[in-house]
Amino acid sequence: MYRYFLFVLSVFIFTTSCNNPNNNTEKNIHQDKKIVETFWQNAPAFNADSCYYFVNYQVQLGPRNPGSKAHQLCVEWIKNFFEKNNVKTELQKFSGITFDKKQWTGINIIAKYKPELKNRILLCTHYDTRPFADRDSEKNKSHPILGANDGGSGVAVLMSILQAIHQKPLQNTGIDFVFFDLEDYGNAGGESETWCLGSQYWAKNIPLTSIKPQEGILLDMVGDTNAVFPKEGLSIRFHPVLVHNIWSIAQKAGYSNYFIDQSVNEITDDHLFINTLANIPCIDIVHYYPQKSDFFEHHHKISDDIKNISKTTLKAVGQTLLYYLYQQDEKHNAP
Ligand SMILES: [Zn+2]
Repeated sequence: MYRYFLFVLSVFIFTTSCNNPNNNTEKNIHQDKKIVETFWQNAPAFNADSCYYFVNYQVQLGPRNPGSKAHQLCVEWIKNFFEKNNVKTELQKFSGITFDKKQWTGINIIAKYKPELKNRILLCTHYDTRPFADRDSEKNKSHPILGANDGGSGVAVLMSILQAIHQKPLQNTGIDFVFFDLEDYGNAGGESETWCLGSQYWAKNIPLTSIKPQEGILLDMVGDTNAVFPKEGLSIRFHPVLVHNIWSIAQKAGYSNYFIDQSVNEITDDHLFINTLANIPCIDIVHYYPQKSDFFEHHHKISDDIKNISKTTLKAVGQTLLYYLYQQDEKHNAP
């Protein structure tokens, strides 16, 4: 009897200890699968081919540093693209003085998708390229960079997102697309305020009558073949929930080799001023190596060219953003 009791007890312990974790794992897998399936069902596919084309188009224009013909052409091209897709576009002109005492007429490009909607997300990037390759060898230092990644990639991803949204309109989410000028004319090693002149102006001049986006996502250098996007310090400080959501969506979608689960120090980028001057909690998806504490290999070098741009990287970023947008749209839809 005692032996039988022990036998029954041990079988019981064995089966419960084996079954419970299995059940939980199965349940988790099932739940994760359900989330991924919901993403797939709701969000349109991100077209990495046309995104790559958009990067290449900008590179073909040449360096888009302030004052250049290519800069002007790029403004027209972005504006026309949004207007062709029935999104009204405003050119916000401002006067900016760079650290070398030069004065410029900067132009931010603001395109509002469904401007009447109250639920709004800001998607932004800079489109200007650095006027000098100051991280390159001595003979190249004075040349402007092509900015395939640093400038071109962010613009291209936002354009492709609009294309996707055009195919399958968002129901209850508006988007403020903003393309900042004069981001990349800062003093390396100097004050933060010498960078990001366009976003500083934009953040200080949001009309009181306009509907402010509740949160923002900034893209910078999102197309390199070897891209990694760590959780950046300012993003964690100002909008930890959004960092968590974006990185977990990316992980579930199979992009955890890009959206890595590591954090890095605070980086000066347009989102600094969006957070502090406009009071819109905004995160930055930016290529930065935690170990090296540095940006991508071709940062501010003339080698920042189309040959280092990867469709797979562009897809990882664009598709993750689309998943997030359609997930939010569904939440806003819920009664
Ligand atoms: Zn830059």
